[in-house]
Amino acid sequence: MKRRHFLGLLGAAGVTMGTGVSAQAASSADVKGLPNAGGVLFDATRCIGCRKCEAACNQVNELPKPAKAFDDLSVLDTIRRTDAKTYTIVNKYVPEAGKPPVFRKSQCNHCMEPACASACFVAAFKKTETGAVVYDESVCVGCRYCMVACPFNIPTYEYDKAFTPRVMKCTMCYPRLLEGKLPGCVEACPKEALLFGKRRELLNIAWDRIGGTPGRYVEHVYGEREMGGTSWLYIAPKPSFAAIGMDENLGTASAPELTSGALAAVPAVAGIWPVLLTGLYAITKRKDKIAEAEKQAAVAAAIATASADAAAKLSEELAKAEVANKRRIEVEVTKALEAAAKAAEEGEDA
Ligand code: SF4
Ligand code: SF4
Ligand code: SF4
Repeated sequence: MKRRHFLGLLGAAGVTMGTGVSAQAASSADVKGLPNAGGVLFDATRCIGCRKCEAACNQVNELPKPAKAFDDLSVLDTIRRTDAKTYTIVNKYVPEAGKPPVFRKSQCNHCMEPACASACFVAAFKKTETGAVVYDESVCVGCRYCMVACPFNIPTYEYDKAFTPRVMKCTMCYPRLLEGKLPGCVEACPKEALLFGKRRELLNIAWDRIGGTPGRYVEHVYGEREMGGTSWLYIAPKPSFAAIGMDENLGTASAPELTSGALAAVPAVAGIWPVLLTGLYAITKRKDKIAEAEKQAAVAAAIATASADAAAKLSEELAKAEVANKRRIEVEVTKALEAAAKAAEEGEDA
């Protein structure tokens, strides 16, 4: 494992980076009781838009191959977003005319208090100690409230799967983290634009870079506070995060904070039953949808089988009819020949 990419998420608690920690960084490094939560720091000044991270993500997550190869950089000419087969994408921006482009990688930001988890009434999303926000497809009822709730428009849905569609998003390579490995994209980045480690240490490094090269970076670590903080952090060159397609107006309140007032104002009985009923409705609806899809598929298969059977039978009957026709013609011809011979004999006798 490359030390340069890894800052001791699973051990080395309390390691100081010897950096000039800003008051801002210290104030919000740990959000709601996850002192050792991990994260990734993306430095847009280092990213060259090579898409090696996209390729690695595709490989480690065994996702379908895209239509255009990962070394085809022409895809950067269009702004893309993640989809059910793509957990991460890199987009190109030209913040200032005549200056070099800036590249930004997008994926799930692994919010400290995820809106997707708040919106999910069957608790399919969970913020783990590693920092990763993970999804449990076995309990998901397919309501897609998580997709609506995510302020970063990240989760997507397998609309093309009729029976067991899933919500799809970056997992921060949770299975790899549990094995002590780096996220695939971090490991693959040739420019160290991605750095994995404890969130609090990443914040120190981020503020160090900002302070160490005055005028180069926007004086802000995106994700330090946005929506209550995220595990994926960003630093970017001037002029702004908005110039590289990032929403600068999300505010600092987390999703639960934003909804708690409204929820508290609703009496329990009046509040819980609609939620339960909505849940039951969604579960039933999904089951119905799956049952309906299964029924349709079974009918289609039956029709296909019946059609095939019927076609075989028809062809058999046609063949039989052809043979019978031939025989009938032969009989008729024979009869005609016999009649003609008889008529000839009678003619001779007369
Ligand atoms: S970025 Fe969206 S999908 Fe990812 S943890 Fe935050 S709310 Fe959930
Ligand atoms: S952390 Fe893993 S799943 Fe997320 S973008 Fe990187 S490689 Fe893909
Ligand atoms: S691999 Fe690194 S340098 Fe290349 S596009 Fe991804 S983040 Fe940027």
